[in-house]
Amino acid sequence: MRTRFAPSPTGFLHVGGLRTALYAYLLAKQTKGKFLLRIEDTDQTRSVPGAIENILATLHWAGLHPDEGVMLRKGVVAQEGTKGPYIQSERVEIYRKFAAELLAKGHAYPCFCSPERLTKMREAQIAKKQAPMYDRHCLNLSKQEIAQRLEKGESHVLRLRIPRERTLTYEDEIRGAMQFKGHTVDDQVLLKSDGFPTYHLAHVVDDHLMEIDLVIRGEEWLSSTPKHLLLFEAFGWQPPRYAHVPLLLNKDKSKLSKRQGDVATEEYIREGYLPEALLNFLALLGWNPGSEQEIFPLAELTEQFSLERVQKAGAIFDTEKLLWLQGQWMRRLSRQEFAERIRPVVGERFPDALRDSHFPARAALIQERLTFFKEAPAMLGFFYEEPKVTVELLANPKQKVTPELLPKILRALTEICEATLDDEWTEDALKEKVSAKMKVEGLSQGQILWPLRAALTGLPYSPGAYEVAVALGRDTTLTRLQTAAARVE
Ligand code: GLU
Repeated sequence: MRTRFAPSPTGFLHVGGLRTALYAYLLAKQTKGKFLLRIEDTDQTRSVPGAIENILATLHWAGLHPDEGVMLRKGVVAQEGTKGPYIQSERVEIYRKFAAELLAKGHAYPCFCSPERLTKMREAQIAKKQAPMYDRHCLNLSKQEIAQRLEKGESHVLRLRIPRERTLTYEDEIRGAMQFKGHTVDDQVLLKSDGFPTYHLAHVVDDHLMEIDLVIRGEEWLSSTPKHLLLFEAFGWQPPRYAHVPLLLNKDKSKLSKRQGDVATEEYIREGYLPEALLNFLALLGWNPGSEQEIFPLAELTEQFSLERVQKAGAIFDTEKLLWLQGQWMRRLSRQEFAERIRPVVGERFPDALRDSHFPARAALIQERLTFFKEAPAMLGFFYEEPKVTVELLANPKQKVTPELLPKILRALTEICEATLDDEWTEDALKEKVSAKMKVEGLSQGQILWPLRAALTGLPYSPGAYEVAVALGRDTTLTRLQTAAARVE
């Protein structure tokens, strides 16, 4: 199957766009077909410099590499494939040629109406509570008048002539049987007065010439689809199949917007989301695997994804689920990869981490606890600088650790550590000695472990006391216990 993603370079890549790209990618890969990337920049007023690079870099980050069309090669925008160019502004002559064909066959007509006339017409229609629609003023011009005005070079657009008496039907891959009454469909502008095509003409020509089998796109294009099908018919071409994916919604069911959560994929990249987590999340937004499975690597999505299981209703963008998936994907990284990915992040704040041969073991302590790499420096800082230990931190009413008890507890801890030699410095040995001491001193587990952990890390939350003591080593553990003891005296 040949599928395509066809963004307009008007700024960032919307997360809904990334989901559309993902679905198109999955179906192409599933059928061992091709995933194309085409840039739709015929509306030059909306094109933003740098947007193409940004969209391509974002897809690259997500691992959705196009097989054909526009792509990044060594960080530079390149085009590959035999059906190019794949950037619409480089294809304008092609569209003009096809527009002329429609005009000659009578499927399109020139319209000379001024913007002022069109505005007035629209306002009048709205006042009468009618849907705004071109009133076909120029369809009634005589052949002779048209010829004269064209001859004079009068500014005009080209419109598609919709057969108003017809009922237009097609079968959407997601939404099922669709029906549109011709008289409700506007005579779409195909070619603008500057000679540039509109999206409607350009993408139909391209989907045909680029041999696209399946068009997957946002629901906002659903009502334009009859125009596109009529264009295919007018050219005498076989149309592709269409699948319109549901909108993304906020929790309150309003359309996902900037106001309620971020819509730009780059925001999620900046936040530190893993591409695996974001793709997993987007795949499940609207697609139901039909099982309890929630974690999907790209390869499994490719195997299991199907349009039949994509819902029609809008899909709620549940940021808590996204966070949960992010945590799950953090845990799934191999220990080695995890350590490699957080080392530079920690190293930025604590350069010693860059040279630390114990780093992988230390990193492993936090893999189960962290959601974003950026949390790592705060969580591992106690390995690289003296912790700030206060009585408030060492004491803990919940664990029944009172300030008065602290000197006794810290003394007991020091004795345990002194009695544990370097070569038996393991979690098990420490645990055993702690239990024996608890009995002798009449202390509970919490009364011993909370101050130990707090003295070693200076943090209210951290990996467990034994793990930390072993990772820090006997000498550092003893020094930190002494420092803590000096604070509470
Ligand atoms: N250029 C259109 C957009 O960015 C693509 C619509 C389509 O896929 O046909 O929304």
